[in-house]
Amino acid sequence: MSISVSNISKLYGEQKALNNISFSVNKGEIVGFLGPNGAGKSTMMKILTTYIQATEGEASVNEFDVNEQEKEVQKSVGYLPEHNPLYLDMYVKEYLHFNASVYNTPKERIEEVINLTGLTPESHKKINQLSKGYRQRVGLANALLHNPDVLILDEPTTGLDPNQLVEIRELIKNVGKEKTVFLSTHIMQEVEAICDRVIIINKGELVADASLVDLKKDQQQIIEVEFDYRVEDVLMKRLPNIIDAKNTYDMVWELTFDTQEDMRAAIFDFAAKNELKILKLDTKNNSLESLFRELTK
Ligand code: ADP
Ligand code: MG
Repeated sequence: MSISVSNISKLYGEQKALNNISFSVNKGEIVGFLGPNGAGKSTMMKILTTYIQATEGEASVNEFDVNEQEKEVQKSVGYLPEHNPLYLDMYVKEYLHFNASVYNTPKERIEEVINLTGLTPESHKKINQLSKGYRQRVGLANALLHNPDVLILDEPTTGLDPNQLVEIRELIKNVGKEKTVFLSTHIMQEVEAICDRVIIINKGELVADASLVDLKKDQQQIIEVEFDYRVEDVLMKRLPNIIDAKNTYDMVWELTFDTQEDMRAAIFDFAAKNELKILKLDTKNNSLESLFRELTK
């Protein structure tokens, strides 16, 4: 187990930021840690990286206890904090050299992480001359310096433009081939794009922990269809796999199916059989985004 969290709670004064959270992350997994702002994501990550201590519960990284084996935990983890604090006046290489000396990292590793994170063309610049996307690369390079087994990335793509977003996701995916990655975000699409599994928290409570494959399996299919003629409710319910048929407007129906199989062909057959014409047919996006909204209302 790369990360193990058991009954963690965190109080800030009176406020409960985390309430009895338990989950684990297996070696090699890329897990998305999802939740709206204020859910407690950063708090959890700070506990896992030994920056703060939990009020209750236990956690370990690479089998090292975050309270009792802080040094070992720090060696195991590469951490990209939220808002990526960097020394803006430093040159990229200077900054990485500075941090490498803290960890006693061999100098060759600096060139390695520069290559790995695609920083080479910008590596002669000062950090304040870099775009946000390249600053994130510097943060990632820094997190990778001591070649940790586990990466903890706090909102690594927040504030990036669409191109940078794709690039940084790609980079995380690549790096993730050899490491365990635990990354926070509040964007479900991001999880869909890079993660094997998602853990969702809301107001300090764990509300979901599921593999992406399972989530997609559980997805319902919603199709909106408009016929040229009125249809009886009982007739609609004869469609295979149908679990709900709502007459939303005039001759427009919203049909919910409990299957992954594309039901549009069945609707065409149904229309032909009942001498109906289809004026409009739309697959509604019942994306994981709506699941996220549902769970974090
Ligand atoms: P997220 O990263 O999901 O946005 P945080 O972990 O930053 O959430 O915050 C969770 C809750 O704890 C929020 O309500 C936040 O205001 C509160 N909080 C975070 N850090 C502190 C702190 N140092 N002191 C008091 N409250 C805090
Ligand atoms: Mg946060």
